[in-house]
Amino acid sequence: MKLYNSLTHTKDEFVTHEPGKVTMYTCGPTVYHFAHIGNLRSYIMEDILEKYLVYSGYDVKRAMNITDVGHLTSDADSGEDKMLKGAKREHKTVMEIAQFYTDAFFADCEKLNIKKPEIVVPATSYIDHFIEMVVTLLEKGYAYEAGGNIYFDTSKLDEYYVFNKHNEEDLVVGVREGVEEDNNKRNKADFVLWFTKSKFDDQELKWDSPWGVGYPGWHIECSAISTHALGEYLDIHCGGIDNAFPHHTNEIAQSEAYLGHPWCSQWFHVLHLNTNDGKMSKSKGEFLTVSLLESKGYDPLVYRFFCLQSHYRKALVFSYEGLDNAKVAYDKLVARIAELIPNGGHDEEAVRPFLEAFANAMDNDLNTAMGITVIYDLLKSKISDADKLWLIEKFDSVLSVGLLAAAAKKRAEKDAQKAAAPEIPAEIAQLVEKRAAAKKVKDFATADAIRAQIAEMGYLLKETRQGLVIEKL
Ligand code: AMP
Ligand code: ZN
Repeated sequence: MKLYNSLTHTKDEFVTHEPGKVTMYTCGPTVYHFAHIGNLRSYIMEDILEKYLVYSGYDVKRAMNITDVGHLTSDADSGEDKMLKGAKREHKTVMEIAQFYTDAFFADCEKLNIKKPEIVVPATSYIDHFIEMVVTLLEKGYAYEAGGNIYFDTSKLDEYYVFNKHNEEDLVVGVREGVEEDNNKRNKADFVLWFTKSKFDDQELKWDSPWGVGYPGWHIECSAISTHALGEYLDIHCGGIDNAFPHHTNEIAQSEAYLGHPWCSQWFHVLHLNTNDGKMSKSKGEFLTVSLLESKGYDPLVYRFFCLQSHYRKALVFSYEGLDNAKVAYDKLVARIAELIPNGGHDEEAVRPFLEAFANAMDNDLNTAMGITVIYDLLKSKISDADKLWLIEKFDSVLSVGLLAAAAKKRAEKDAQKAAAPEIPAEIAQLVEKRAAAKKVKDFATADAIRAQIAEMGYLLKETRQGLVIEKL
């Protein structure tokens, strides 16, 4: 399997630290508000990655944090804690906000068929581990105390900007537009590991530490949670592309300084979902959530299908027109699957080329759009219905767009329609046929006479857009 690796900027052959086993870490949501469908694009694609690894035979162990403290409104150590902002907005406590939006996040995930990772860790439950990591970084000389806060010293690293050879002046924290310079920092790229002196004295959650009462920086959360939950060597780290810098860059700095060896070999970044007028936002314009889509009549799985039609490494523009197109394609696909009749087992020889085609698509940097094309191809092919259904079930264990369930629902609806239709006696059916034949040759007089005869026998003929309907009078 080849996966694009943000560290090497190439599609690399996927290798794991231990054969057959994958450790996978995902940056979880900051639970100060609902997730928008952009956030969920990242989680959908990460879910596909996990499921495809399992499909390919790997034993996957995956962990995710829940950011319920320390993520400031600017990713660069300034601004207010997002959690506090959420609590003030809703006149609730930070922990109430965290619980509510954590539940909301997993409810959205369930609607989108996103599997909950095996290990989920709220940052506030791991404070001791964060402190232990900061203590070690201080002992090893990678961190320093200044103005009451503990900072990571980026000048101690051979290479800090691991993902891109940034123009360092553009990205350093102190000179970014709208970011206040922090005079405690020895180097502009240094970042906070532990806050005690915050501009915001009303920070609600604080803990005792060797440096005074305070709270952790956002980046240390992921370094500590992933090493404790998944071990010293991580196979894949995931997140949206905005997290590559500074969040993931800082995670790498901390983890490798702490561990004393390379940490994670494969970095999987999902590009953003944007709107026509730019960045997706939780505060400006329409706040695009799963519930909003549902209120407009869209099945959340249609949104998942919409995402899978594009490659995760391309920015995707969301529009209702695009979603409508995905809905039409999805409904057509489901209708075709609903026509298939389950009849016996599958034939290994017949299904093999399609298994290979699906694996080729997904092994090529998770090409989900090509994976879906394989489903169209197999539907068009001459293999049996049983083979088709077997393959679709298998592929949908990865794609998770609910194809078989939706097809079963469609079939049940059709059966119910049939059952609701009255039983038509044979003589009426014969008359209906005769009338159709008369109409065909434009003998409308006969057609009308037959209609009257049918009415006398107690049945009404109705021409509808769906065709002729026969009702009992
Ligand atoms: P947050 O809740 O802000 O910590 O973000 C949760 C996840 O969503 C992270 O992996 C982000 O990188 C990702 N993300 C944020 N905005 C977008 C977007 N517009 N499209 C895709 N992923 C995003
Ligand atoms: Zn993270």
